[in-house]
Amino acid sequence: MANQDDIFKNIISHSKEYGFIFQSSEIYDGLSAVYDYGQMGVELKKNLRDYWWKAMVQMHENIVGIDAAIFMHPTTWKASGHVDAFNDPLIDNKDSKKRYRADVLIEEHVAKIEGKIQKEVDKAKERFGDSFNEETFRSTNARVLENQAKADAILNRFKDALEKNNLEEVRQIIIDCEIVCPISGTKNWTEVRQFNLMFSTSMGAVTEDSNVIYLRPETAQGIFVNFLNVQKSGRMKIPFGIAQTGKAFRNEIVARQFIFRMREFEQMEMQYFVRPGTEMEWYNHWKQTRMNWHQSLGFGSENYRFQDHLKLAHYANAACDIEFNFPFGFKELEGIHSRTDFDLKAHEQHSGKKLQYFDPELNQNYVPYVVETSVGLDRLFLAVLSKAYIEEKLEDGTTRVALNLPAFLAPIKVAILPLVKKDGLPEKAREIMDMLKFDNACSYDEKDTIGKRYRRQDAIGTPFCITIDHDSLMDNKVTIRYRDTMLQERISIDKLPEIIEEKVSFKKALQSLK
Ligand code: ATP
Repeated sequence: MANQDDIFKNIISHSKEYGFIFQSSEIYDGLSAVYDYGQMGVELKKNLRDYWWKAMVQMHENIVGIDAAIFMHPTTWKASGHVDAFNDPLIDNKDSKKRYRADVLIEEHVAKIEGKIQKEVDKAKERFGDSFNEETFRSTNARVLENQAKADAILNRFKDALEKNNLEEVRQIIIDCEIVCPISGTKNWTEVRQFNLMFSTSMGAVTEDSNVIYLRPETAQGIFVNFLNVQKSGRMKIPFGIAQTGKAFRNEIVARQFIFRMREFEQMEMQYFVRPGTEMEWYNHWKQTRMNWHQSLGFGSENYRFQDHLKLAHYANAACDIEFNFPFGFKELEGIHSRTDFDLKAHEQHSGKKLQYFDPELNQNYVPYVVETSVGLDRLFLAVLSKAYIEEKLEDGTTRVALNLPAFLAPIKVAILPLVKKDGLPEKAREIMDMLKFDNACSYDEKDTIGKRYRRQDAIGTPFCITIDHDSLMDNKVTIRYRDTMLQERISIDKLPEIIEEKVSFKKALQSLK
């Protein structure tokens, strides 16, 4: 069994080999933390986006979508707090000259301690078998308690330092925890500095300070500034939501781990406008709804968990992440935030325009509260790819690499394969392709042996392969081969649309969300 690092490396090279993801501008040696989606990646990404959109917009009468521009008036980012507070604390190692996020160094150190605790728990579980009670063990075992106290103390100290914006203390925690640079192995650290993550550019021909505009670091603000436009033109009644998908840009200090942390990425966000005082109810509702959505993909509920935020952002009164078990451990996949009326109020102040809702039931005007769900499409892509990717040993001793994607997400739904390139089989195959291509992404392939062609389709996750042979010309039947079981069945051509539709439509997945 390969270890997680190796599997992650294999996933990255598989992504390139089969046209899912390429390094941006690769012929110029690439651009750091920027990636391009290839012919297969673009389809999978689009299907993930569609699944989100359908679940959020199509399935909710009171949620509508918009598509706001990436460029926004610069005052937007003053109002949102991003100009003053969208910072990461960074620290450099003087020997390796490598730059790190101070918060990440500390969190990884704590994760190591928690890893030790988990090991103790796993060992005990094995030793005691069925009689093992994890809760009791965690609350009584001396080593576990000692490590837990250590981890809690570091986190509390760190939280306190962040709240007071005490960067010297953040550095001191790194020193006291004896955290070393993974490259140089030394503790020779610089001071901690704040670094703003927004990219800026200038608009128009003259470069003056007043022309500086930002590339949006989140899509949410495009929704806030359009709140009244949508509410009025759509006659929306609270509670209601506005959803949007689109690019966001962050000048990340440390960009690693493939498409997990990119400088240009895509977000899928929904802002839900609610009556003040009801936000906690909606916050809990959306936490659960979004968790169910992720788990509906079928990759195992044990791979998801909630994690409350250590430090609430300047706009939030409650916030948590849905974390996913990536090949490099549990990390944030989606954020659920109760943003209060912070954003709308700030935009009222900076624009001088009222952003209020008249609630006919209360006969009262107010600035709504907002609960937000925010997921990174690229991170979601990586989550799905990393669990769908399997290397399995077959009975004949060979290894098969397949993407076990839910059929409705697969880039190609059906591969049409004439057994040979002659005797009228390609023509028959084309007829079937013409029948299916209006409803399904199909791929036609007549090159190489049938076995090789099956493997190519497995590698990109195609759920169905259809093989046309000489008998097909006589009996109008074909062989359908299923990706997951590799079983083959002979069926009548006119049954194909029904069998395929049953598995590839979004309908079943959407129904399962209810
Ligand atoms: P992190 O702590 O990992 O930097 P964040 O808390 O800053 O993330 P949010 O501002 O809550 O992230 O953004 C919402 C979502 O957008 C995240 O859950 C993540 O899926 C995605 N996201 C954020 N930054 C990036 C990035 N640099 N690359 C890819 N996806 C990102």
